[in-house]
Amino acid sequence: MTEDTIFTKILNKEIPCDEIYSDGLCLAFKDIQPQAPIHILIIPRKKIISLKNAQIEDKELLGHLLLISAKIAQQEGLQDWRTIINTGEKAGQTVFHLHIHVIGGRELAWPPG
Ligand code: 5GP
Repeated sequence: MTEDTIFTKILNKEIPCDEIYSDGLCLAFKDIQPQAPIHILIIPRKKIISLKNAQIEDKELLGHLLLISAKIAQQEGLQDWRTIINTGEKAGQTVFHLHIHVIGGRELAWPPG
């Protein structure tokens, strides 16, 4: 069995988070090290290691996560924002439980580093 990630511990309420939204499928909370004035993470309750590990049966869940991320971004007052899923170590993934970043509240450069 793989070891629990920090996000499993957050889902299990073993460690606290600054919660923004919760439902039966996902949890959203503020990133502990925000890269912009608004930086929120949306994670599925189901443990999916990364986007490359998602299966066809996860398609409704993935759609839900994206729609919820957009709803949260707007509830936080954002009109423009960036939705990011770092996938794999070389792409900057550090926590191996699928998560969507919603980042906004400042001008965002492109291309990202
Ligand atoms: P990744 O680099 O894997 O795409 O993103 C992981 C994110 O999780 C990082 O932005 C990091 O700041 C955030 N993070 C790591 N540990 C914690 C934590 O314990 N609490 C919260 N709220 N965010 C965390």
